Amino acid sequence: MLNCRPNLMPIARLPPEAVNRIAAGEVIERPAAAVKELVENALDAGAARVAVRIERGGLGLVSVEDDGGGIPRDELTLAVERHATSKLIAGVGGDVDLLNIHTMGFRGEALPSIGAVARLSITSKTRGAGDAWRIDVEGGALTPPKPAAWASLSASGTLVEVRDLFFATPARLKFMKSERAEMMAVSDVVKRLAMARPDVAFTLEHDGRASLRLSAEANPENEGRRARLAAILGADFAPNCIALDQVRDEVRMSGFAGLPTFHRGTREHQHLFVNGRPVKDKLIVGAVRAAYQDLLARDRHPVAALFLDLPPSEVDVNVHPAKTEVRFRDAALVRGLIVGALSHALAGAGHRASTTTARSALGGFRAPQTPQPGLRAWGVAEESLAYDFAPSGRVESSWTAGVPAGEAVEAAPPSAGETPAVQEEDAQFFPLGAARAQIHETYIVAQTEDGIVIVDQHAAHERLVYERMKQMLTNGGVRRQGLLIPEVVELDASEAEALLARAEELAQLGLVIEPFGPGVVLVRETPALLGHIDAAGLLKDLADDIAELGEANTLKERLEDVCSSMACRGSVRAGRRLTGEEMNALLRHMEATPFSGQCNHGRPTYVELKLADIEKLFGRR
Ligand code: ADP
Ligand code: MG
Repeated sequence: MLNCRPNLMPIARLPPEAVNRIAAGEVIERPAAAVKELVENALDAGAARVAVRIERGGLGLVSVEDDGGGIPRDELTLAVERHATSKLIAGVGGDVDLLNIHTMGFRGEALPSIGAVARLSITSKTRGAGDAWRIDVEGGALTPPKPAAWASLSASGTLVEVRDLFFATPARLKFMKSERAEMMAVSDVVKRLAMARPDVAFTLEHDGRASLRLSAEANPENEGRRARLAAILGADFAPNCIALDQVRDEVRMSGFAGLPTFHRGTREHQHLFVNGRPVKDKLIVGAVRAAYQDLLARDRHPVAALFLDLPPSEVDVNVHPAKTEVRFRDAALVRGLIVGALSHALAGAGHRASTTTARSALGGFRAPQTPQPGLRAWGVAEESLAYDFAPSGRVESSWTAGVPAGEAVEAAPPSAGETPAVQEEDAQFFPLGAARAQIHETYIVAQTEDGIVIVDQHAAHERLVYERMKQMLTNGGVRRQGLLIPEVVELDASEAEALLARAEELAQLGLVIEPFGPGVVLVRETPALLGHIDAAGLLKDLADDIAELGEANTLKERLEDVCSSMACRGSVRAGRRLTGEEMNALLRHMEATPFSGQCNHGRPTYVELKLADIEKLFGRR
């Protein structure tokens, strides 16, 4: 007989134990996943207190106890059956509404999956029931419910114990990391769930030692959430974050966004929640990245705890077995809201830099924790703050890129002389104070009402130039200046090609280039506000940038990125001596410029020391 299906057996239905084990592979991939499912069940049951106990990284024991409503005796058997759930109501014709989910669980998979790969016992008591009842499942085999002792003080609740996880699937056991690594994952899961529910008390114990103890917060909306986040994320969190809360249509975005100077090396410090569910959603991650894009270097990540709440019908949570990904019905709305809310909050923080900067400088001294007064409240007009570091010897282009002569967005070249006449004695009442000295040709020391400010002149100027370029970009183009003698720059043939392909965009940014033979580019004009720049270095940086930027970026985002490297190249170097007038102009300009608390790479542009801290240093307090 011709065998057209070599190596295959006839089709047969798998026994339920095998089905459960296969499903368990998706849902329960490691101890932390079991903890997540069990804690979610406790929250769905209305628990006010959840106690998690772990032994040997969860491979010995995972135990989750709650004081929720409990499971009635006659439902215990159903609870461990596949696709059995109390969280979806079948409508007419057996239809269930998967787009109207108000609970953490709904798939009816967790308990049968755990029961298939471990020794599972559930002890539960409902309010008013005389006894607690217990059911055992071992590698998929079930024993009927029997009465059990109820050690807990609460009137109702459930204790789920999972022993010898993966004993029934030894192959999976081989994939486990160290007990320590598994325990860290467990701790992570509990913390993330706890962040979303300040109203619930959580404890976590590992091998008999308490590793987390969180009491329930009375006011879970505002102060409670802040307190819960601080308890989990550490004392640095609150003073280095900005609260935000915005609603668009029926979508609400609230939580805390880290100051750009409070950045980290991984995205692990971004905690995202959709309707109270911790998620790792690409759309949200992308929106956060976009909002911080020009405030942080590419390899740094902001800290944030962001809570998105929207009607359940607007979000599909049934796209991932572990429910960590979601899909939004109106993705553009959600993305716009996140980027908008974050940008708004960050702009409001203005020149406020992270308190950790000043504190680490002082070795544990307290740093200012309140935001500075609103920048614009100081009534400083941005245009009047112009100052010029451009050396003479350049000719001003008679027209502004993209704007016909006569309608130029900016007047004559800015100069220090146009600085608003702030009286010396008044200057110290500005947030960044009155410049008193420049030291090492790098730092400006200013006196404020109640302390001193030290500004990194290069970092600060870079930010100002960048924000200015962005603003000009929106207003029609960046003013450029012609070079007396066009500069010839030699590059790789491919680099030159990539740059020339963007010549039009670059011209909008004030950089006019032309082809000049293979691999050679001629620079005719440069952005006026950069002053005298090293054109060859700038072109190389830009070529790198353009090579690195993905197609996904919008034109504007690309331009902003290019602005950023231009600003870095063209800004006042450390080592340039400034006059008092120039220094004060820089300070006033910083106060009036959004995001001036950090340079384009997320480094702070200034630190502030309060008089009180200085007094402490000298033992006067
Ligand atoms: P799902 O949570 O998706 O419904 P599970 O397998 O996690 O599926 O749980 C099955 C059912 O068991 C739940 O629908 C719920 O009725 C019940 N259950 C599980 N854990 C608890 C608990 N801690 N307290 C009360 N009921 C629970
Ligand atoms: Mg569940």
